[in-house]
Amino acid sequence: MSSLKTECPFHKSSLEIGSHCNDCDYYIQNNSENSFKFNKTEEDRNIYKSYENAYGQLSEDDLKNAIYSEEYQFDLAFETHNTLGSVCGLDVAELGVGRGFLQKSFLSETPKSLHALDIAEEYVRNASRIFNDSDNGSVKFSTSVGNVEFMPFVESFDLVVATDILEHVLNLGNALVRISRSLKIGGRFVCRVPYKEKLGQYSVYNNQRYEFAHLRFFDERLLQLQLEEVGLKTISFRRNGFQPGRFNQAVPSFLRKNLAKAFSLFRVYGANWYDFNRKSRSFPMKFFRLLHQPMELLIISKKV
Ligand SMILES: [Zn+2]
Repeated sequence: MSSLKTECPFHKSSLEIGSHCNDCDYYIQNNSENSFKFNKTEEDRNIYKSYENAYGQLSEDDLKNAIYSEEYQFDLAFETHNTLGSVCGLDVAELGVGRGFLQKSFLSETPKSLHALDIAEEYVRNASRIFNDSDNGSVKFSTSVGNVEFMPFVESFDLVVATDILEHVLNLGNALVRISRSLKIGGRFVCRVPYKEKLGQYSVYNNQRYEFAHLRFFDERLLQLQLEEVGLKTISFRRNGFQPGRFNQAVPSFLRKNLAKAFSLFRVYGANWYDFNRKSRSFPMKFFRLLHQPMELLIISKKV
């Protein structure tokens, strides 16, 4: 059976996988060995139901046809894994496993255990396939389907990773309380979020297909403040997701068009839009990052 410690998030009473809370109808449903599902209590969960449905749709679409370029996602996963270092021997959870780019990267090493969580059942099924294909039998692998805001884990992980999650959750406070709770003391929370992003593109009035997309954005200070409140101390930041023609404020607006043209002409950017982020990872191309506005902010924090 799983070595995960679990509780009812509302009553903080220990709750085994497969059982109901004594004080409310919170329930951890056991699907099969090392695979389970949890939900907010039945009462008053209408908005969460439609939220889950939106992600059911999104995951189906995404698994058929990647919503974001796979090359770009692969690069971001590589850079994220690289920044947080080796996962060997650690109890690791990935929240919002999605298409599993980071999961695959983690399975190139041997974490002690790996838990893959997602709100969408399709993504979790995909994560199990990725694990089975990885031939990494020494890793204790488990999955759950549910919303991060209501996850039941208690001091179970050395490392919790959430990429592209915190901008999506309905109640950020809920998510952060549960994330912090799931970490062992001294464990690390690593997350990647959109950096100073404009949100108009996520409006249904701008042809946004999904009702719930990015609900907020972050910068270093905002993110650090939120994590601090739940006992997560910031260790370091890293910005990534650099794209052609997306300059930062240091570059005067009248220069931007011509500069972008020149960078294309002199092959600074590469043939595809996602090439620049990879090319600019190391010296001397790194210099060009200074002129650009990154899409993503990565933060490493520690439970104190
Ligand atoms: Zn309860």
